[in-house]
Amino acid sequence: MTTVFKFGGASIKDADAIRHLTPLIEDHKDRPLVVVVSAMGKTTNKLETLLAAARDEHRSDDYRKCFEALQAEHREAIESLFDDAQDSPAERVDALFDELDAQHQKHRGAAYAKHYDQTVCYGELISTTIVAAWLNHQGTATDWHDARELVRTDACHQAANLDWPATAEAIGERLAGSDRVILTQGFIGGTAQGAATTLGREGSDFSAAIFAHCLDAREVVIWKDVTGLYNADPRRFDNAVQLERISYGEATELAWHGAKVIHPKTLGPLQEKAIPLTVRSFETPDAAPTVIDAERRFDADVPCCILRENQVWLEVRPRDFAFMDEPRQHDILGHLVEAGLHANLVDSGAMRFAICLDDKPERLAPMIESLEGDYAVRHEDSLTLLTVRHPRQGMMDALGADRETLVERRNDTTAQRLFRSRDCPETWHIPD
Ligand code: ASP
Ligand code: MG
Repeated sequence: MTTVFKFGGASIKDADAIRHLTPLIEDHKDRPLVVVVSAMGKTTNKLETLLAAARDEHRSDDYRKCFEALQAEHREAIESLFDDAQDSPAERVDALFDELDAQHQKHRGAAYAKHYDQTVCYGELISTTIVAAWLNHQGTATDWHDARELVRTDACHQAANLDWPATAEAIGERLAGSDRVILTQGFIGGTAQGAATTLGREGSDFSAAIFAHCLDAREVVIWKDVTGLYNADPRRFDNAVQLERISYGEATELAWHGAKVIHPKTLGPLQEKAIPLTVRSFETPDAAPTVIDAERRFDADVPCCILRENQVWLEVRPRDFAFMDEPRQHDILGHLVEAGLHANLVDSGAMRFAICLDDKPERLAPMIESLEGDYAVRHEDSLTLLTVRHPRQGMMDALGADRETLVERRNDTTAQRLFRSRDCPETWHIPD
């Protein structure tokens, strides 16, 4: 049966990291083994910077500098890995860089999202070319596949929607039954017309789930630089602990509320086919992992805390002293949809509708301006939203002690409090 591995940017950030990954793949004897790989290190961020320079006619020097720096980094990894020219992917990678350059020239006047997808996809195309060559060089029979031809999507650039039947057909036809390692890109897909698309930042987890779903895989393993999922970000909570096992539903809730653990779209396709997802460390592969599957019994064992910073609180009131009835709520949410903004918390009353949002000024400012035609809008920024899943008795009060709570929301599984960021500590402690 098929296994799907996913390696993120950190696990292939340089030549040493790539060397380290070979035994993890070699030791896994089941085939097909589908290996989904992200761009190297922070390449996607760098490609976004490159894109901004490409679109600004006054910044052609910056563009060249960025481009050359990125190419040099990849060349350095290749030179370190391959001493003989025969197996080296140097030429193919240089050709991909030439293509990337040509795509920038071609799309600089096109819509941003389309230009983004035609160029940022090269991070993954290049990284997988290097890793595939390396595995073959090491004697692990590996085939490179272009995910733009397998993961079929619509043309909603930067947030493409999957065409599941076409994807299942393409993946089934090309990959099922292979006895080799199948290496492909996370994050990217393509339209029927041949344009590249992307699935949203950090979308490689979702890619792994797509391949697993379409191949009825036995298991997905996400290899990370931590041993599993934690009940809070260990960099921000001094007593965070690893979760042993949670359900698909719980993992989806954590991701939805902003835990940067797994892309939120990942769990659905796995749940539907009851394919377990394991999160393991590529540094210490034998350490106990976190397992996500259908079992719900352990979900409430450990409370989980999630911080969302840079939040804005918007309070919207009708100008004509009318009620905040359904047509008005519908109207306000319509503004949100149009602005492409997501409500992290909603609260309403007879004459007000209030929303907590990520502070994205370029989207928020025009939305507020258009709301102000019909509504009085008050907003406050520099806020922190704390979400706790399965809080224990008294926990929310302890977390809110010493700071004013601007808004509180609670149901049987989830509690949220909104604070001013300046009142919040750098390091939090989860109360007993
Ligand atoms: N390389 C892409 C990103 O950094 C996708 C991923 O890593 O999942 O967003
Ligand atoms: Mg990444």
